[in-house]
Formats: sequence, C-alpha cells, structure tokens
Amino acid sequence: MAGILYIISAPSGSGKSTLVNEVRRIIPNLEFSVSYTTRSPRGSERDGLEYHFVTREEFERMIANQDFLEYAEVFGNYYGTAKRFLHEAADRGNDLLLDIDVQGAAQMKAKVPDCVSILVLPPSRQILEKRLRNRSVSEGVVSDEVIERRLHGARKEIENFPKYDYILVNDRLEDSVDCLEAIILSERRRRAGQALSFEEKQSAELASECLQKSRTTARKLKDVLESFSLPTQA
Ligand code: ADP
Ligand code: 5GP
Repeated sequence: MAGILYIISAPSGSGKSTLVNEVRRIIPNLEFSVSYTTRSPRGSERDGLEYHFVTREEFERMIANQDFLEYAEVFGNYYGTAKRFLHEAADRGNDLLLDIDVQGAAQMKAKVPDCVSILVLPPSRQILEKRLRNRSVSEGVVSDEVIERRLHGARKEIENFPKYDYILVNDRLEDSVDCLEAIILSERRRRAGQALSFEEKQSAELASECLQKSRTTARKLKDVLESFSLPTQA
C-alpha cells in the first residue's frame, strides 16, 4: 500500500522543527525524509540525521542524474528530496513527512496531487522576530541582517498560504502539537475509511479547524497577515 505523503512548510523560526520533532516521537509509522543540502551543518547537526550534507558539485551531479523528486535553492543553498525516500517509506508500509520550502511544496503538489500540505505560521511578525532572536542567542550567533532577511523571506512565504490544505498557527506549543497530530491521524483514518470512536471524531474536528478554508483559520490568519502588512481576504 502506498503511504501518505505529508508536506510541512513554514517561514524560518515559526517552530516547524520543534513541532516535527514532537510528532515524530508520538506518531508510529511516520518516516521523516532527510533532505540533501549544500549548506554547512549548524550547531549539533550531524550528517544523515537532520540532513545529508553534500558539496555543490555532488548536488549538481544528483540533479543531472535525476535523483531528486524536487529541489530548490533556499537562502543561497540547494535543498532536495531524493526520489528513493518515497518508494522506500511506502515499501515499509509507512507514511512520509517532508519538511520543505514553499517552492518544493508546489513541485510536490504537482507530482503527488493527493499529498497533504501543511503550512506552519507564527502568530505574528513580532512573535516571529522574538523566536528568531531567541534561537540565534541560544546558538551563539545574533545577526540583525540574517534576522531581517528571514523576516522578509517570511512575508513572501506567507503569501503562499492559499496553496496549502492546512494552516497551523503555532501559538501555544502544546496546542500546536495536538493539532499537527490530529491532522496526520485524521487524514490516515479518513483515507482508510474507518468508523470513528468518540475521541477520533474529536480529533477530526480539531484537524478540520486547521483547514485552510475553515472559519477558525480565517480568524487566526487575519491577525498574521495584518502583522506582516499583507492584504487580508475580503
Ligand atoms: P523552524 O524550524 O520553523 O525554523 P524552530 O523549531 O527552530 O523553527 O523554532 C524557532 C524557535 O522558536 C526555537 O527557539 C523554538 O524553541 C521556539 N518555539 C517553537 N515553537 C514555539 C512556541 N509555540 N512558542 C514559543 N517558542 C516556540
Ligand atoms: P534550514 O537551513 O533552516 O534547515 O532550512 C531552510 C529551508 O529549506 C526551510 O524552509 C526548509 O523547509 C527547506 N528545506 C529543507 N529541506 C528541503 C528540501 O529537501 N527541499 C526543499 N524544497 N526545501 C527544503
């Protein structure tokens, strides 16, 4: 049986890695795709765990070999998802979670139309800036220029929200973990067509509140868009 493909994107600093790490711990049969990148390892990152770190020449050789399902250049570095990950996860009967940027998400949606796409957003620009600063302080590097560049990038990524199935505004971490878990499990149950218990119906309800077109999402999104001086919907 082919597994479900989940795609998660977010402006840098929104809390996507934190959320992904949490759900990877609690949800069984969910594999995480370890991307290839030409950027250098950060902090405690190790080759093969967070990323496969390769040179630009190696990456370009892989592009020429058509090894990638999708790839993109983000902040001056290449990032890509190898084709083999999807087959390998499906062969093991597992679902696959891809943490990729908006350009990669669009490429994947075109190739695998029934994938589930999730955009994680910060509650506001101000909160995103605070999270970016806190993270830089804890990594021992604070660069106003990098933070400004990421905030600018965030604005551009947020504009792509209509392309995603689900929008998860990461305010309280515990609530966001519950929502992400609900989205992943509800999609599994829906596709399996199984009858739902009371708890499973509640979980499906929580997931549906994160649908891009839901009223709850529209309300939260309005605050996010306004804080980034982006037009809100009519
Ligand atoms: P991303 O992977 O989206 O770039 P991270 O997961 O590294 O973001 O999170 C950025 C920073 O924000 C980290 O310092 C993380 O601990 C913090 N963070 C994540 N989620 C929350 C939250 N809901 N509330 C407060 N801080 C958060
Ligand atoms: P970071 O360098 O902060 O780990 O990631 C920077 C950006 O690259 C994030 O938006 C992340 O989602 C994206 N990214 C990571 N792996 C891939 C990938 O394989 N493909 C694409 N398109 N983007 C990726």
